[in-house]
Parts: sequence; C-alpha cells; structure tokens
Amino acid sequence: MTNDLSESEKIRYQKHLLLPEVGEAGQLRLKNSSVLLVGVGGLGSPAALYLAAAGVGHIGLLDGDKVELSNLQRQVLHAVAAIGQQKVASGEHALHALNPEIRITQYPFRLSDENAAELIGSYDVILDCTDNLATRLVINRFCVQLHRPMVHGAVYRFEGQAAVFDADRGPCYQCLFPQLPDEKVIPDPAKNGLLATTPGIIGTIMAAETLKLLLGIGSSLAGRLLVLDSLSMHFQELRLVRNKKCPVCAK
Ligand SMILES: [Zn+2]
Repeated sequence: MTNDLSESEKIRYQKHLLLPEVGEAGQLRLKNSSVLLVGVGGLGSPAALYLAAAGVGHIGLLDGDKVELSNLQRQVLHAVAAIGQQKVASGEHALHALNPEIRITQYPFRLSDENAAELIGSYDVILDCTDNLATRLVINRFCVQLHRPMVHGAVYRFEGQAAVFDADRGPCYQCLFPQLPDEKVIPDPAKNGLLATTPGIIGTIMAAETLKLLLGIGSSLAGRLLVLDSLSMHFQELRLVRNKKCPVCAK
C-alpha cells in the first residue's frame, strides 16, 4: 500500500489529476490496484496498454501462447522482435517500456480449474480477453465464487461485444446461456477473419470499464451487453437479466 505519488507520477498522470472524479486519491487507488488479464492477444493488447498507461499498479498477464507473425495485424502489444517469445514476456517488455513505474507478473500458461482460484483471488478485477467459451466459463465461475468483477469482451469478424459481470449485483456470464451451446456450433476463432480494429475498440472499452470499477466512478456495463457492428459502426445495448436457475450464481 503506497500513500503518495512521486514527482514523476504527478507529471505522468497530470490529466487524471485534473479530473475531480479521479484526482490524487483516485490515482493512488489505481496505483494500489491489481488486474489480471486472461489472454494477451487482440483484446488483451489494447486493454493492457491503457491500464499500464493509466497507472494500474499491478498487472497480471496470463497466456500460454507465443507471438506469431499472424498476430501482429491486431495484437498491438507485440512487435516483430517478439515473434517466437511468450506473449506474456513480450507484453511485460512493451508495458514496462511504456510505464516502468508499475509491476507486471507473467503467467505463461492457460487458466484451468486447478489454478483459477489462486490466480483470480489475487487480483481486484479480472479481464476476460480470451477467445474461447470454455475459459470464459472458468473465469466466470471463479469470479462468482471469489466475488470478483469480470470485465468481458469478445470479437468476431466485424462484430464485438463488451459487458461487466458482477454476480453480487446482477447476472453472471453463464446467466446468458440457459443452455450451453454445443461446442461443434461455436465458431473456431482460428478460422475466422477479424478486422484489425475491432478488438482494439472492444479492448479499450474493457480498459475504460476496469478503470471505472477500480475508481468506483460512473455506471458500469453491469447488466448491459454492448454490441458493436463496426461495418455500419452501430452500437446496440442489450439488457441482461439474472437467470434464477443459473447453475453458477443462483443461490
Ligand atoms: Zn449466473
């Protein structure tokens, strides 16, 4: 727990300090906060960059994959020199180049039932930046159990969606699925095209929601699913309700 900002931090975060809703107290709150990014790809890249730039004191990066040339079209955290490296190592390098005042922890593996409780329990807010339903369901289950907000994002072709799930106050992610879809009908992200900027927009919205949650300001996307069609550049909002028979969050 730190109780003050250094002189360089006061300069770095000047624009935050000028906002009455953030100010020095809010910036200290960010400095003493921690977020875990599950997935350091298309969504995780912009989210991590903005959270690091904004001064979140501790960022955990979890991803078992290595950087490939085909990632660079949208995963803006990684550069050519990082091809072949673990994404979490490349991510730490890029984030520290941007902001050396924050702490980064690398987890170069996948989230599983075995490691989720310890990992999710160690952070204030969890960002779902994965590309598969199975991992999302694991994140959701442990976020509900451990009372952690889950900031969700997903992208597909030209479309994206974002929401906040906080089961203490509203629906959880699994409430969206009265029945889980058959794995065979879920589109394989590796086989689908994706406009470069769609994960950038959604990942940035996720970072904004995370900062608001950490600061305790504004109204979050809890109970609302924001849906983006970037071809027509329309945003739509769907109201989410709790499923009283949800196997995860129903009491
Ligand atoms: Zn639920």
